[in-house]
Amino acid sequence: MAKNTSFDLIVIGAGPGGYVAAIRGAQLGLSTALVEKDSNLGGTCLNVGCIPSKALLHSTELFHHLNSNGAEHGIVAKGLSVDLAALMKKKTSVVDQLRKGVSHLVNKRGIQVFKGHGTFGGDGKVSVTSGSSKTILSAKHILIATGSKVVELPFLPFDGKQILSSDHAISLDKIPKSLLVIGGGAIGLELGSVWSRLGTAVTVVEFLPKIAATFDDDISRQAQALFKKQGLSFSLSTKITGSKQLKNKVVLDAETKNGTTKFEAEKVLVAVGRAPFTERLGLEKIGISLDDRGRIPVDKHFRTSVKGVYAIGDVTPGPMLAHKAEEEAVACVESIAGQAGHFNSEIIPNVIYTDPEIASVGIGEVEAKQRDIRFKVGKFNFAANGRAIASDAATGFAKVLACAETDRILGVQVLGRSASELIGEAVTHMEYGGSAEDLARTIHAHPTLSEALKEAALAVDGNALHSV
Ligand code: FAD
Ligand code: NAD
Repeated sequence: MAKNTSFDLIVIGAGPGGYVAAIRGAQLGLSTALVEKDSNLGGTCLNVGCIPSKALLHSTELFHHLNSNGAEHGIVAKGLSVDLAALMKKKTSVVDQLRKGVSHLVNKRGIQVFKGHGTFGGDGKVSVTSGSSKTILSAKHILIATGSKVVELPFLPFDGKQILSSDHAISLDKIPKSLLVIGGGAIGLELGSVWSRLGTAVTVVEFLPKIAATFDDDISRQAQALFKKQGLSFSLSTKITGSKQLKNKVVLDAETKNGTTKFEAEKVLVAVGRAPFTERLGLEKIGISLDDRGRIPVDKHFRTSVKGVYAIGDVTPGPMLAHKAEEEAVACVESIAGQAGHFNSEIIPNVIYTDPEIASVGIGEVEAKQRDIRFKVGKFNFAANGRAIASDAATGFAKVLACAETDRILGVQVLGRSASELIGEAVTHMEYGGSAEDLARTIHAHPTLSEALKEAALAVDGNALHSV
């Protein structure tokens, strides 16, 4: 049967932004088409990002914990070793399962999927090209969710063998002896941890004076010290300036505060950020201009400068995070369908899935000072939390920032086991305009790691119960 080519809504790109937009459109009764150039739905997040990296982090964390802590728990596991092919197979099975899940959801909602590269024509229609076949689609509303791509350093082009992007670093077939990671952000720390746990000598080189630069200094400093104990090396305030690829290693020139130096490694992972992806989208044909960072500017309802064309996710300004793309998708489609379409860009959690994890929401001390906001801080160490001590998680701390005048929570940062889950409670309190006292007086089950968050909220007014 010939496919319909006229819709209420066309979504270009089937990442977490695009496929969620298509699902919400179908739920709201819009006839919806989803265009995807890759063979699988799910975008960066499912295929080469969030999901495969978390699968690798979980497998390697299991190995690391048994190796380093098993004996003291009476677990005798002599001669533990890693079968890398099996570890990668597990990762692939996780990704496959979720790919099937996304396809199932999209099909069950009656969304028509068009596999091919979507491009705007001058008439505002979208052509979908796959090999020699071309289909022209039209709709009243077109949503761009084309995501992002890895950033390459000009003097270090990716070859997948010695110079790796995250796409390569999640699929190596041999454990490298040494890995130099350029960039101490989310990818550098997560994938650096994965390979370090498997025995690779990992050095993280960061341009700024701190790793995990979006977090407060105390969090970054303690995280770095903990990762160092796990075996990672760091060179901060360091800029890689050149490279030479030899047969078995890469030699890199660098500038540091103390002068020039050299690094050598079997492989190099370049993790210096991602850039919006708008190639061959034909934006110039409909008159959409990009901002100075290649992003599509949008208003608070995700409308571009062209009527009927919207954009969400990594291709637009804001943090490049899957949950940001998803929430924008829902808000955008709801506003297309005549609903409020609310999205709160002030309260987006951010997590780095290392061990321990690092999580934040709202503003930190640096931003509060920049914005001249008077604040109070409460901190609580996991070393004083019963559940943390009972489960090898007694490192790190939770920190609550509250307005000095109103006590309203301005931000929360957590360095600790399951910080990614703990931060959810802070998000909810902040979403409802909660105060540090609200969080402090909420009953938390004992013994849980979440009690550290409650104690940090109590500490805002000097009332922590389990620390002095
Ligand atoms: P994408 O997921 O990039 O999807 C865009 C889709 O559009 C792609 O499938 C692409 O093929 C398709 N497309 C592009 N142009 C066209 C076209 N013209 N025609 C048809 N199709 C097109 N974020 C988190 O929140 N948590 C994490 O733990 C996390 N981990 C990550 C780990 C790694 C290694 C990486 C690389 C990223 C990670 N991210 C994480 C970031 C997250 O993947 C992105 O923020 C998220 O995928 C953005 O979603 P999106 O829908 O905007 O774009
Ligand atoms: P990032 O922006 O998180 O970190 C890049 C780091 O590289 C920064 O600290 C930056 O100062 C440093 N840097 C930039 N140029 C450099 C240079 N020439 N030399 C040395 N250091 C340099 O980017 P990323 O880690 O590549 O991740 C890409 C995107 O994917 C991010 O937007 C991130 O939010 C997203 N992501 C999120 C998660 C997560 O949510 N857990 C995980 C992975 C990726």
